[in-house]
Amino acid sequence: MNLSLYACPRCHRPLAGDALRLHCHECGFALTMSEGLWLDNTLAQPPGFSPDRREHLSDIERDHFWFGPRDHLLAKLAARELPRGGNALELGCGSGRLLPAWNTQFAQTFAVESYARSLAEAQARDARTTLVQADVTRLPFADNQFDTVLAFDVLEHAPADAMLGEARRVARDGARFLLSVPAFQSLWSYADVAAGHRCRYDLAQLRGELVANGWRLLGHTHYQFALFPVLWLSRRLLGERGQAAERRPSRVATALLGRINALEVGLGAGLRLPYGTSLMAWAEAV
Ligand SMILES: [Zn+2]
Repeated sequence: MNLSLYACPRCHRPLAGDALRLHCHECGFALTMSEGLWLDNTLAQPPGFSPDRREHLSDIERDHFWFGPRDHLLAKLAARELPRGGNALELGCGSGRLLPAWNTQFAQTFAVESYARSLAEAQARDARTTLVQADVTRLPFADNQFDTVLAFDVLEHAPADAMLGEARRVARDGARFLLSVPAFQSLWSYADVAAGHRCRYDLAQLRGELVANGWRLLGHTHYQFALFPVLWLSRRLLGERGQAAERRPSRVATALLGRINALEVGLGAGLRLPYGTSLMAWAEAV
């Protein structure tokens, strides 16, 4: 293992240790290897992402119409907009849905996540990734280590400066960053409240946050372009009833809406769609 990649997330000193335990001489911080995962047993749960939410996502992600086509779109964008090879770090990887794609594109993939249970799910999905329990605003990595940084539907749960600044700190100059966030504050509903979102992002706002933290926006597109009017109306007009249907859609709705999303990704992946419920952006470390 490459010890120089790691650093203390509290005091930024290099970590000492071996393949079983890394620790900071200065403050006592430690990462312990347990069944293939680097665990930080002192990590508090993230304030913007509750254990209930984790369970809910883990429960619905296999079938929900939003996930499959979204993953497909992100893999296509990565293949088109990010370098091949080098190393990549995914922030907030959840259950690791995209790790197999990253391990195809990059020579070495790292991923961090607050919840040990999610890391275990990610490991079951793709054991090639180095999985580390960490807060996305305090990463246990040294400066200038990664060629690519990835973060999908994570930024809206965290203080933007802290997370984008940390992403920039661990990225090399010229590194690429691919991220997705919920789009359009006008779609804000109590689904966002339930999900622990701090905000939804318009393009200008996301660009501003990126620039303020050392990133230059290179391009963007949206996802759920075709479903945008339906979801906008549902969130505006139906209130809680619409929310429940969107969270746990019927089998017919799942098949239909999933088909629409898949078609959109199949036909529109080369396009920069001007609106949708998710905003996907790529940037360069400057
Ligand atoms: Zn320390």
